[in-house]
Amino acid sequence: MENLLKGKVAVVTGGTRGIGYAIVKKYIEAGAVTILCGSREETATKALDKIKAECPDARVEAIWPNLSNRDEVSAAFMQIKEKYGSLDILANNAGISQNTPLFDYKDEDFEKILDINIKALYVCSRAAAQIMKEQGGGVIINTSSIVSFNGQGSGCGYPTSKFAVNGLTKSLSRELGRYNIRVNAVAPGVTRTDMVAVLPDEMIQPIIRNIPLGRMAEPEDIANAFLFLSSDLASYISGAILPVAGAVVI
Ligand code: NAD
Repeated sequence: MENLLKGKVAVVTGGTRGIGYAIVKKYIEAGAVTILCGSREETATKALDKIKAECPDARVEAIWPNLSNRDEVSAAFMQIKEKYGSLDILANNAGISQNTPLFDYKDEDFEKILDINIKALYVCSRAAAQIMKEQGGGVIINTSSIVSFNGQGSGCGYPTSKFAVNGLTKSLSRELGRYNIRVNAVAPGVTRTDMVAVLPDEMIQPIIRNIPLGRMAEPEDIANAFLFLSSDLASYISGAILPVAGAVVI
């Protein structure tokens, strides 16, 4: 695994904690120069300090552009390309979850989830693809969710956004294939992160009881799928939505 991404330059959004942090670590261990994106300077630099302590030889830095602002993201990605020579991998992982019942939903909350879970992916993919097209190729991987297949019983905005992630993944894989850009998504099941820690036990426990592999995913389980899809081992895989969910069907 050590050199699987040697010479590659990777950006991971939502890289400060949870699944994103595990992806950052996995990419670093595989030899990539890795740029982690956070929502704020404070959390991004804190995560940077942590990863540097865990991986002292890492070539890693932190940025915190507004992910749904085209100018900010384009400028940040261009700086990376100028500094390191390329931008080879984009892991579009930042996301928020909601489980609000329909009649309690505030319109601004619905809009917020669409903004970070969908618009940011479009903005970041566009900015990265521009660079990847010019350099002759690249890889984009989106974090979807197992709820992108059948929805969930409360909090309709979240599965709605993840269905859109699958749509963006499949559409961009077809549009960008001619530029040697592969686009895939990973669809995690319930994974042990802060996002799940805030959900009520009565929502989580029945899900875990129904997981054939008998446990929740660890962030590293998901990061392994990102590593595979980012590497040349997946050189002919594009347009795939890969469930990493312990065989659960929800
Ligand atoms: P988390 O809450 O631990 O981490 C979310 C990350 O997204 C953080 O780094 C945070 O800074 C970033 N983020 C949130 N809002 C942002 C914003 N406005 N701008 C920039 N960054 C922002 O959650 P996680 O569980 O690690 O989730 C990561 C991804 O995995 C999300 O897309 C989520 O939908 C998806 N996912 C999680 C689970 C799960 O069970 N944990 C299951 C399926 C899919």
